[in-house]
Amino acid sequence: MSGNNNHSNPFKIAQQQINDCADILKLNHSTREVLLRPMREFHVHFPVRMDDGTTRIFQGFRVQYNDAKGPTKGGIRFHPEETIDTVRALAAWMTWKCALLDLPLGGGKGGVICNPKELSRFELERISRGYIKAIGAFIGPDKDIPAPDVYTNPQIMAWMVDEYSSIVGKNQFGVITGKPLSLGGSPGRGDATARGGMYALREAAQRLGIDLGKATMAIQGYGNAGCYAASLAEAMFGSKVVAVCDSRGAVTCRNGICIPRVNEHKQKTSSVVSCEGTECVSNDELLALDVDVLVLAALESSVTERNVDQVKARIIVELANGPTTPEADEVLHRKGIHVIPDFLCNAGGVTVSYFEMVQNAYMYYWDENEVHEKLDKRMTKAYHEVLNSAEKYAINMRKAAYVVAVARVVEAMKLRGWV
Ligand code: GLU
Repeated sequence: MSGNNNHSNPFKIAQQQINDCADILKLNHSTREVLLRPMREFHVHFPVRMDDGTTRIFQGFRVQYNDAKGPTKGGIRFHPEETIDTVRALAAWMTWKCALLDLPLGGGKGGVICNPKELSRFELERISRGYIKAIGAFIGPDKDIPAPDVYTNPQIMAWMVDEYSSIVGKNQFGVITGKPLSLGGSPGRGDATARGGMYALREAAQRLGIDLGKATMAIQGYGNAGCYAASLAEAMFGSKVVAVCDSRGAVTCRNGICIPRVNEHKQKTSSVVSCEGTECVSNDELLALDVDVLVLAALESSVTERNVDQVKARIIVELANGPTTPEADEVLHRKGIHVIPDFLCNAGGVTVSYFEMVQNAYMYYWDENEVHEKLDKRMTKAYHEVLNSAEKYAINMRKAAYVVAVARVVEAMKLRGWV
């Protein structure tokens, strides 16, 4: 952690947010100390046979941040720049996310340092299995339940659940969520993160008197969350998506981007850049567009002191984890921009993951409508709890979300006699 300033170290940011919340809740010293650190973390190195016959050693992490409210839950990222502090921050955010949605779960996160774009399908499979072999003893359906995250997907979850099942000698679907439908997945898990964010956006727009049917939207990041957000915003509200971007660049179209066309283009070329009927702009220009809604669906620390002054949107939908730095947060609050903070806004994913665990345990599967209804109910309730807390304490939406979530975790810790 040393040498990193708050900007480049997401865990420093996560700790600063916990401290700010502890001040508001007037938490005592020992409670604060527990909340500021992960309860357990595992660092593993594991060998993987590459396609050329050589063996490479990969490094992975799994952080179980806090399990006061139940088994830890959270995704696994495959990223070339993964660090233990990123995983720690993400595991902390999972803790608050699960508590905010009132799920009987704690928070965790995992990561493997690797670049999936440079790996073959077989290498990816062997890394997935190697990672599960390395952490298998520490996870389980009632212990710690991984799921997809950045650069991991249902196929990877399928390999992982297969590997875990062979370790324990029986099928254990409940150990991992975000699985393919035909292997114990839940209907509605695929677009759950974006859909949950759209339910929260609907509530926010209603509150602010914004007609989403006439609203324009820019989307930063075009992975699972951003891509579904584009089509759902159009289908659910009739909003006009005027710009999207990925790591290679941004494209705009004043009259509305043709979402099926951009999806097809991305499928073919792995990027949204140069899609027919759009104009190329820079990623910074996308953030500065005069739109009603800005969706942040890329990586951590995207809106910072450097670019926050340019942001003109009225609502920010944070589908990524940690996309806004604390300094930028203050500026957005001063500018009166309504931020739907990450661990509220993107909680749809883990909420449907929880539904998936329940269905796995009962071996009885719901239909998609039932999942959507249950998700809507939980997201709407959580949004209003955060809004009420923001009004009660006169604080921004992120701090308000912390207040609600951390109070629940602290209550569980007190009941257990930890603090
Ligand atoms: N990776 C997702 C998140 O950050 C989902 C986690 C899960 O389903 O456990 O919320």
